[in-house]
Amino acid sequence: MQESHHIFIQGKWRKGEGGIRKIMNPSSGEVLTEVKEATEEQVDEAVLAARRAFETTNWAENIELRVQMLRELSDKLEESAEEFALLETRNTGKPIRESRLDVSDSITCLRYYADLVANRICWEKEMYDGTISKVVEEPIGVCGLIVPWNFPLLLGIWKLAPALAAGNTVIFKPSEVTPLSFLKLTELIEKSEMPPGVFNLVLGEGRSVGHSLVAHPEVDKISFTGGSATGRRIYQECAKNLKRVSLELGGKSPLLVFDDVDLATAVDWAMFGSFFNQGQVCVASSRILVHQSLYDDFLTHLSARAAQIVIGDPVDETTEMGPLVSEAHRKKVEEYIQIGLTDGARLLSGGQRIPDRSGYYLSPAIFTDVKQDMRIVQEEIFGPVITVQPFKEEIEAIQLANDTPFGLAAGVLSRDLERAERVAGRLRAGTVWINGYHTPHVETPWGGFKQSGIGRELGPQGLAAFTEAKHINRNL
Ligand code: NAD
Repeated sequence: MQESHHIFIQGKWRKGEGGIRKIMNPSSGEVLTEVKEATEEQVDEAVLAARRAFETTNWAENIELRVQMLRELSDKLEESAEEFALLETRNTGKPIRESRLDVSDSITCLRYYADLVANRICWEKEMYDGTISKVVEEPIGVCGLIVPWNFPLLLGIWKLAPALAAGNTVIFKPSEVTPLSFLKLTELIEKSEMPPGVFNLVLGEGRSVGHSLVAHPEVDKISFTGGSATGRRIYQECAKNLKRVSLELGGKSPLLVFDDVDLATAVDWAMFGSFFNQGQVCVASSRILVHQSLYDDFLTHLSARAAQIVIGDPVDETTEMGPLVSEAHRKKVEEYIQIGLTDGARLLSGGQRIPDRSGYYLSPAIFTDVKQDMRIVQEEIFGPVITVQPFKEEIEAIQLANDTPFGLAAGVLSRDLERAERVAGRLRAGTVWINGYHTPHVETPWGGFKQSGIGRELGPQGLAAFTEAKHINRNL
């Protein structure tokens, strides 16, 4: 990639003709680099390149080539894993140990979809009337992939791997805040044998570049991960020409702590569920519901543990919590802390900036004495801010857990596995972890009930999201 060329169309780097954007290091507030973003015309060019590649190359038919490309990409990513992890940490502020996990999960995801598509079996059988029916899964066509800033590489790969495996061509748009890891990944793609136009990259803001991609009539599908308000706008735009759409949106996930848990272990899970990646995780356990018999003890241990969390330079191996992603985002999170206080909740601990640190740091905030209809209980804050509420009965815990517009994930901590399974069955959430939290498994679906989204990523469902089923019936 030549310096100042940040758009990738038809296998070539191009200079963005849109605005200049400073890409920041959130742990220091320093500028890492500047990028030139795309214009609407360049989005149009990228879409037309993807359309041409879909219609004139053998990409859609040649499974062997696609499998080879995905495996090669995973190998190259593995070779430069540490470089990717450092880049991700510098651009997002996430602790280096967490960035390494993202890179290794990305490699696993590329390999999973290469294997899944390589072993795909076409369904064919004789029907009741003697005809033969065959069902094939064809690629949808040209797909726009739009991702947020909290896991820039990993969430991008969750879309890119199945989209390419299924035979689609793509235009990828990273978050305007965190484009660096995908710019680097594009360098790996550039050096591969992937036909030009199969993968295209455009940088820019959602309301300009993102919107142009969503509204483009030659885009057949939008796969979006981001906030629920943006998701709603994208859904409306896609409805205009019945474009296919997948939406992975926000959450307000509950962690239910029953009376039979080991207290220290439960607090560890709550810490991990709530403050991993500074709480900037769609499935973060931002509402902890604790049985009243251990509520006071739980709070004492949780706030003590939160006070000990190692906040620091995310490149440092011992750091447990880095800065928030941007100054604007920290401001938004601080506004929510203020809203909580104004609405009468009690800030038990945290929610402070860190003296002597120039980055966008904020200590983990724990609210108690909340009411279910408060905004800090109902709305996604997307930062290190949680609420803790007591419950008496299992049914009450389930009702509180389900009582928000979201339904992305939930956790249940209990030694009584029969109860845990029963509760998991009644929670309206796309993922429920029992005696654990946060692990995504590449073979299992990921997505939301209610206003947390439409469709699923990962697993076979993630591949199906990028295909159209076709039935071919032949009369002998
Ligand atoms: P966002 O919705 O502001 O932006 C996400 C992406 O969409 C960015 O690339 C942005 O440029 C683009 N965009 C914004 N407006 C657009 C428009 N009108 N048309 C097309 N593209 C547009 O979200 P964010 O602040 O970057 O990320 C945080 C949100 O992402 C949180 O709500 C979080 O819960 C959600 N998220 C969900 C999942 C999931 O798997 N469900 C995973 C991670 C993050």
